[in-house]
Amino acid sequence: MERESPVRLFQNYLKSQGFNVTKVRCQITETLFSAPEHMTVADLWARLRNERNISMSTIYRTLDLLVEGGLIRKIDLGDAFAHYEPVLGQTRHEHLICTRCSKIVEFALPDIEERFFETAEHYGFLHQRHELKIFGLCPDCQKSSISQEVP
Ligand SMILES: [Zn+2]
Ligand SMILES: [Zn+2]
Repeated sequence: MERESPVRLFQNYLKSQGFNVTKVRCQITETLFSAPEHMTVADLWARLRNERNISMSTIYRTLDLLVEGGLIRKIDLGDAFAHYEPVLGQTRHEHLICTRCSKIVEFALPDIEERFFETAEHYGFLHQRHELKIFGLCPDCQKSSISQEVP
């Protein structure tokens, strides 16, 4: 079975909610899905700034719509910026974040993921989202901090 393209799914979502399907919104979606993960608004802006018809506020609005439509998720990776990553076509994963070089590594823990849903249910919550983050030093940064300590 062929998978629907992200743009197509986004168009369906927009129509179902009575929002306008605009060329600009589709263009932003395409850019986000064709690029590396964990993009910030600034990353997106850098890729789209030559498009004169796209403004920063359009990018923000489109990202909100993509989050609401469940196509992407917004993640806090411990810096000052919101990062966005595709949800579609991805298995659920969490992040390890290096506090020195900001390197991001993804990992999946399906058993633990299930526990989040159970926990929400146990407390009578309707699960909307959850995030698990591990902050630390990546292998490279551990090596360089050891070599700095040796005179
Ligand atoms: Zn590092
Ligand atoms: Zn990720």
